[in-house]
Amino acid sequence: MARYKDSVCRQCRRESVKLFLKGDRCFGPKCALERRQYSPGMHGQGRRSKTSEYGIQLREKQKMKRMYGLLEKQFRNIFYLADKGKGVTGDTLLKLLETRLDTIVYRMGFVTSRAEGRQLIQHGHFRVNGKKVSIPSYRVKAGDEITIKEKSQKIARIIQSMESHERRGVATWLELDKNNFKGKVKALPAREELTMPIQEQLVVELYSK
Ligand code: SF4
Repeated sequence: MARYKDSVCRQCRRESVKLFLKGDRCFGPKCALERRQYSPGMHGQGRRSKTSEYGIQLREKQKMKRMYGLLEKQFRNIFYLADKGKGVTGDTLLKLLETRLDTIVYRMGFVTSRAEGRQLIQHGHFRVNGKKVSIPSYRVKAGDEITIKEKSQKIARIIQSMESHERRGVATWLELDKNNFKGKVKALPAREELTMPIQEQLVVELYSK
């Protein structure tokens, strides 16, 4: 599968917001955005020209896509799915993104980033309702239980991630049973429970042109 190969911190600097792509480093003084709060590249420190409406919408889409670690085609397909569904398209889009298994294991604190979640899911370390799931885009439902395979509970990066999960916090609509290496989706998230700095309406406007 194609993937983004540049430094992930450049993506945060480009969007001028923390996208939390590098695990625990994002919470410490080594965060690149804390140290250099300007866009990457030769003209990063220069004066920014006025951005058009299209430019603002485009940046919001890029920010959202990068936050969830998706490629353009994957992101657009999720948008089409949201657009076809019932309810407000922006809300549905966020729900579809948030209920991907890679995001769920990240939000539960089993891993420090979605990228790490994707890798560990693909290696078969997670179970959904007792069954092995190795597809990062697998969509969880309310009531689903996510567990870590017994043998995998000894993996150092999983243990370390769970030790530091308090710093990142567990989403309100999820439940973590740290001692038993399991978590539960209590309910699907309401819009107000998703506190990332995202204006999904701009993305809807962009794709509706
Ligand atoms: Fe972004 Fe994390 Fe890098 Fe900071 S450390 S710039 S939040 S990826």
